[in-house]
Amino acid sequence: MLKIDGKRLWSSLMEMAAVGATAKGGVRRLALTQEDAAGRALFSQWCVDAGLTLSVDQVGNLFARRAGRFDSRAAVASGSHLDTQPEGGRFDGVYGVLAALEVVRTLNDAGIETDKPIEIVVWTNEEGARFTPAMLGSAAFTGAMPLDAALDSRDTQGVSVADALAATSYAGERAIPGTAFDAYFEAHIEQGPLLRKAACPSAS
Ligand SMILES: [Zn+2]
Repeated sequence: MLKIDGKRLWSSLMEMAAVGATAKGGVRRLALTQEDAAGRALFSQWCVDAGLTLSVDQVGNLFARRAGRFDSRAAVASGSHLDTQPEGGRFDGVYGVLAALEVVRTLNDAGIETDKPIEIVVWTNEEGARFTPAMLGSAAFTGAMPLDAALDSRDTQGVSVADALAATSYAGERAIPGTAFDAYFEAHIEQGPLLRKAACPSAS
């Protein structure tokens, strides 16, 4: 049976947590800052090491592609975000991105070729801590938000998404809105008190 390497996933999570690490043990990696760019660069290096092909779209969403046997078919995608809240946690968003990478690494180790291509996605400004609205990158990808509006969103200093994309070299060429995926999976850890406050039972 195919099994992921939990130790490898954990060590990648810890390495990523060092990028923008705060004194309190959390992470501050606001969207399209130099810290976010450093996190994206680390992730990109891991993807290149895993044989994936990188591309970036017009709002900076980052895609890492593993070719499929029938490569013209729509991709099966999985991912999340690497940006954080000002006092963010180590796992919110990051887990979804690195879990997808661990799946790809596991497929590589087992020598498995999939019929459809696989794409790992890093969405831009999902937290909305720097630019509004939250989920800006995925909204632009699906066409729910016009590209111009997304690029013109500004932080409290008046810096636009377009400016921040240029400053971090993440103004890509892949078209917005994006091509629909065959399927999209996202594992997500919400590192907040809401579930505990609502007395939701933990998953076993
Ligand atoms: Zn999140």
